[in-house]
Order: sequence, then structure tokens, then C-alpha cells
Amino acid sequence: MPTNVQKQALRELWLLRKMQPQQPEYSSSHAYLELLADLPWQKASEEKELDLRAAEERLNTDHYGLVKVKQRIMKYLAVLKLKPDARVPVLLFVGPPGVGKTSLASSIAAALDRKFVRISLSCVEDKAVIRGHQRSDIGSLPGRLIEGLKRVGVCNPVMLLDDIDKTGSDVALALLEVLDPEQNKTFKDHYLNVPFDLSKVIFIATANSMHHFPPPLLERMEVIELPRYTPEEKLSIAMRHLIPRVLDQHGLTSEFIKIPEAMVKLVIQRYTREDGVRDLERKLAAAVEVAKVEMEVNGHEISTSPVLVVDEAMLEKVLRAMWENVLRHHSFDDKEIAEVVSCPGVSLGLVWTSFGAEVQLVEAIEMVGKGNLLLTGQLGDVIKESARLALTWVSAKVADINLLEGRDIHIHLPPLGVPKDGPSLGVALVTSLISLFSKKKVRCDTAMIGGMAPSGLLIPVGGVKDMILTTYHCGIKRVIVPERNLEDIVKLPSAILDSMEILPAKTVEDVLEKAFERGCPNLTNFAIPPFDLQSRIRRSQ
Ligand code: ADP
Repeated sequence: MPTNVQKQALRELWLLRKMQPQQPEYSSSHAYLELLADLPWQKASEEKELDLRAAEERLNTDHYGLVKVKQRIMKYLAVLKLKPDARVPVLLFVGPPGVGKTSLASSIAAALDRKFVRISLSCVEDKAVIRGHQRSDIGSLPGRLIEGLKRVGVCNPVMLLDDIDKTGSDVALALLEVLDPEQNKTFKDHYLNVPFDLSKVIFIATANSMHHFPPPLLERMEVIELPRYTPEEKLSIAMRHLIPRVLDQHGLTSEFIKIPEAMVKLVIQRYTREDGVRDLERKLAAAVEVAKVEMEVNGHEISTSPVLVVDEAMLEKVLRAMWENVLRHHSFDDKEIAEVVSCPGVSLGLVWTSFGAEVQLVEAIEMVGKGNLLLTGQLGDVIKESARLALTWVSAKVADINLLEGRDIHIHLPPLGVPKDGPSLGVALVTSLISLFSKKKVRCDTAMIGGMAPSGLLIPVGGVKDMILTTYHCGIKRVIVPERNLEDIVKLPSAILDSMEILPAKTVEDVLEKAFERGCPNLTNFAIPPFDLQSRIRRSQ
């Protein structure tokens, strides 16, 4: 410990000695002293001479492609080799989830022979997360940086500031100080109350996008963009990196379990919707797990090689099990659905999230206003555009009435805990608006899938097969789908098709006809009696 810290620690120890263990301050004083004793004030990983060739090899073994990114990293490492205490800019990896930002940062740490610690900054609004709470506050804690250093046990790790674009402006200001080499020598965490030298830490940051990125922070960083992967790149990553890694984690090799390229393609095309490969990795891991159990239970011949080849039936089984797991939290029973779809303005659609297909409630309400459309619920741009188009389509249908006069419309898609996007909610959005304006309830046993063109024609969407399976598992047995998606649906297992009512639709009108108990509400006498919230309010006053 530096002398000033030691003084502080001894003072605290002296106070602690005078306390009774029953006193409330006792445990907080004890925890504080433990932190002071645990923190790596001077302890550092030994800084070995950097072997650039080994570093390059490691980057290549761990990551497929990303040629330019690797070149940039090598340049960065070369500077550090020449001058280990050089003031290098903070690398900022920008790209969608699962494209390898974290694993590149961890490879850099390995190349530098440093320990690696990841600090998540996602949705952090309170700067105390960086700077800690005052010790006098109830339940006070040190900030995540200090806590991370304690965890990693050295003062010179590679520290990944993950999702730095998702922090509030206060936090960004606090980070500015952390990343400033002039100031971070004496970083002050409020809880710690003595300066900690962060100057030996190598910071790397990640962000999903550059929108809303605080400009002052950007000045300290060098942006390296990682693009989304193409399906072909995903296939190569899976075959060369993900499958061997997943097999290895289960103590297996490709001599035991083989996942053929065709099956990986199937998972990429049909069962994942992502820019990176995280979900793909998760699904391959699940396939290996199920295959391993199958191999053990059925006592497959060890003499044949490979012992087991994953086929489509096995994949189907794996992915269904995964859905059931994910959907357990979101699945409804008949009664629950009837309850939620019990008022006009509510419809059931299907949407893509990073977990796969999910049933999505669409809830539209109206209020006195000036013709605005409000949208909430962790929505992607495509959904927002679909909602605007839906409102335009409905307004155009009832051309002689201004539907928005004197009112605002609020459409809410209850969050599923993950962002969602895609065109598949188009028809559910229109249906909820028609239901709201006509005051007629949508059938509670029916979900609908499909995008729409301004003409009202239905646009087929990807992943319909998965969406139907999701509705099936959620207990919804009646689904309206774009006619042009029918060819995907015939591929579903007959047991599922037999127990469901799949209704093809060509236009939005077809959807409405099927979605309401008595067919499509009369669009011409919509909003009649005229919307009279204003007068109702006046009357109630
Ligand atoms: P991010 O931090 O961008 O969200 P991760 O680094 O966590 O993504 O990557 C998710 C998984 O995908 C990790 O197991 C990672 O090793 C793997 N991965 C991503 N890109 C590649 C690639 N180009 N080559 C090999 N594996 C990759």
C-alpha cells in the first residue's frame, strides 16, 4: 500500500478496534478495510517482452476473417512493444452483438500477457457505478472499476468497458476522467476515498453503434468497426471455431460428434436472426449437449467414426427444447390470452428477438392530443416504420374522417426484456388500430404474422416456421399468415400442422376478416359516433 493509503487503513483499523461487532458500522468498516487490503495497489502482472508473431498467430487462431481489424490491432501492439508506456489511444470496437468485440479484447490481453477484466456499462445512468458511493450512504459500494481491479488482483490488466454507448451523460463524464492519462493516476472512487493509480490499466471499449456516442469520449478513442457477418462467414466461423470450441468444452472432438455443414447452414438460415454468431454458438452448444446425451444413452458404437452425426430431427428436438425454456416466461394459457386481448386495441403478433421468435402483444390506446403517434417497448426501426405505415393505411381507408383529429395514439409493445425488430408485426399493428377505432375486440385465439405494403398486400416474412412453432408452444392454435409464406409452413411437422388452424391471407382486408369474430369491421363507419373524448371530459367536469 502507498503510505497515504496505509495511514487511512490504520486509522480505520483503530476505529474498528473500538467498535462492538453488533454495531451497525462494524461490518461496513470491516468491508472497507478488506477492500483496502485486497486491492492491487502495486501488484502487477509481469510485463514480458511482447512477441508480435505469437500475438498475430493467436489472433488468427481465435478469429476467422476480420483481416483489417487484426491489422489495426497488430499496429497497436507494435506501438506498445516499441514503447510499453506509450500513450496509445483507447481502442473502441464498434459493431453489433456477437461479432467478436469481447473476444478480440481478450485476445489482446492474452497477447500482452495481461489479465483481462470486463466491466459492463449497459444501461448505467448513475455515475456512482464508476465513482462509487460515499461510504456514509446506506448500502454503499465501490464503483465497478475498483471492484473489477479487486477481482482481477493486478493493477495493470486489460479492462474492457463494455457497451460504453449505452451509458448516460453523467457516466460518460466520469469515464472521461478515467481515460485521461493526466487524471487517472489519481482516480478517486468516493467509497475508497483515497486515490488509486489507473495509469497502468489498458482500456479497451465496445459499443453497438456510434449514434448517441458522447463526442468528448470519442476524442480519446480510436474507432475500429466490426461489420455484421454474412451467412457464408458465419458458416466458416462455426465450422472452424465454434464447433471445435463447443466440442472441446464437452471434452469431445469431431471423432465423436459431427455437425455437418448442411446442418449448420440450417441453423444459420432458419433458426438464428442475428448479425453476429452468439446465438449460433448457443444453439450449436445445445445440439452438442443433446447429441452427447443421445450418444451415452443409446450406447452408440465407439468403433464407428464419427460416433454420431447430428441430423435435422435432432436439431429440431434441440431447438424446441430451447424454445420451451425461453418461452416458459412468456407463454400464456388460453385464459391469460383471453384476459389480455379483452379490450379493443389489442392484438397478438409475432416478432423476432435475439432469442428467436416471440409472441408479441400489440396494445393501442387513444387519448386527447394533437394527432401524434407514440411508440414504446424497445422497438427497432423497422417496427416503428411499420406502425407509421399501419396508421397511414387505416387513415387512407377512412379518407373522409380525420382519425387523428384531437387525439394522440399510443402503441405499446410490452417489452420482452430484449430489443425486437422486423417486419412481421405489420398486420398485427394494423389490426390493433382497426380494433381501437372500431371498438371491436380482436379474436383472442388468433395470432397474426406478416408485413404489409402501402397497397394493403401482405409481404411474406422470414422465420415463419419458427414463429408458428412459437405460437404452438404458447397454446395459440389459430394463426394468420401471408399466403406467400405457405411453402415454409408445409415443412412443419404434421403433428403440429394437424393441431393448428393456419389461415393464409393475401391482403390486409383478408387478415381483418379473419381476425375479428364477425369479420372485418365496417371501415366506412369507423369512429362513428365521432370521437368525443373532449366533450366527454367537458361533460364530466
Ligand atoms: P461481442 O463482444 O461482439 O458481442 P463476442 O466477442 O462475445 O461478441 O463473440 C461471441 C462469440 O462469437 C464468442 O465466442 C466469439 O469467440 C465468437 N466469434 C465472434 N466472431 C468470431 C470470429 N470472427 N471468429 C471466431 N469466433 C468468433
